[in-house]
Order: sequence, then C-alpha cells, then structure tokens
Amino acid sequence: APVIGVLALQGDVREHLIALAAADAVARPVRRPEELDEVDGLVIPGGESTTISKLAVLFGVLEPLRARVRAGLPVYGTCAGLILLADKILDPRSGQETVGGIDMIVRRNAFGRQNESFEAAVDIKGVEGDPVEGVFIRAPWVESVGARAEVLAEHQGHIVAVRQGNALATSFHPELTGDHRVHALFVDMVRAYRTPESL
Ligand code: GLN
Repeated sequence: APVIGVLALQGDVREHLIALAAADAVARPVRRPEELDEVDGLVIPGGESTTISKLAVLFGVLEPLRARVRAGLPVYGTCAGLILLADKILDPRSGQETVGGIDMIVRRNAFGRQNESFEAAVDIKGVEGDPVEGVFIRAPWVESVGARAEVLAEHQGHIVAVRQGNALATSFHPELTGDHRVHALFVDMVRAYRTPESL
C-alpha cells in the first residue's frame, strides 16, 4: 500500500490519518524533512494556515516540501491545507507563506467566521455516487484559477475543489465525515504516481 504522510504541525492530523487508513493507505505523521523523504504522498490538514506555515519554517520542512511538490509529489490540502497549496493568497497575514503547487488565488475565511460554519452537499468531479457532505469551517474559497488548474467543485458559485496535476485541494473537510471517497481519490492519485518498481 502507498505510504501517505500527514503534515503534523497543527490542525486535524488525526482525522486524516484515520481517513487515509480507511482508504487503504499506510498513514503516518510528518514533521521533519527526513520523514517527508519517506512518503509517496502528503496531506496538509485543516487548521490555521498562518500557524502551519510558520511552524513549517521553524521545522525546516517548508523548502523541502516546496521542492518535492515541484518535483511531482502528490499532495492533498483541506481548508488551511488548500490555502497552503495556493500559488497566491489574496489576503495573507503577515509572515504567511505558501507551499504553492496550484495556480490559483484563494481568499481566506471567505465563507464567514467560525460561527458561520456550515455543511452542504457538494458534487465533486471524479467522485462517483451521491454528493459529498461538505463541512465548511471558516473556510476559504478559490477566487480564480489559472489555465493549468481544473475546477472539481463549486458551492454557491464559488470554487471549493481544485486539482492541478498531482495536487488536490478542497475548501471543506472530508476527513470529518466518515465518507472516505475523496481520500480514496487521493490514494488513487498516489498509486498512479508511484514508480512501477515499488508497486
Ligand atoms: N481559516 C483558516 C485559515 O485561514 C482555515 C480554517 C480551517 O482549516 N478549517 O487557515
């Protein structure tokens, strides 16, 4: 099975580890550059994107992560993780960095404050069957995407799921629902990326 890391600096790491295991991956937390070297794919969880970016600098993992993503490492970001995968943040906080990887501009906290969090059914391209239950918690939306990025889902006219090559991002949190179809989609992306020798 593919080994998939969850960037474990801050945020809902445990929920992603559980969802990945349910989707037949070997899941493990990643904090240090050496741990990053050992995974076939990486999830960047929900949490607080400025905090995660500052801790990534402190742990020396931001630059190695940028390099691996540029080299094609499959990555999946939820909510704060989506923000970290954006090439550009419309309204960054001071000191906020991104990993990048998806040619898109994101707006933080676009759907409102914590107490305006909500759930909504979301149809995602590439996920078969019923819509996914989207859990939006102080969620960003994608303001615009460049030509290389593919929009996978919208909610009320706003882009909430995007894929570009091996990078996948959602504004919402499939790891909180017990429905593992989005994680299964990502595990399939990781399987497709791995070299034949390691299969
Ligand atoms: N609003 C948070 C941020 O800016 C994201 C919230 C979340 O991950 N649920 O990072």
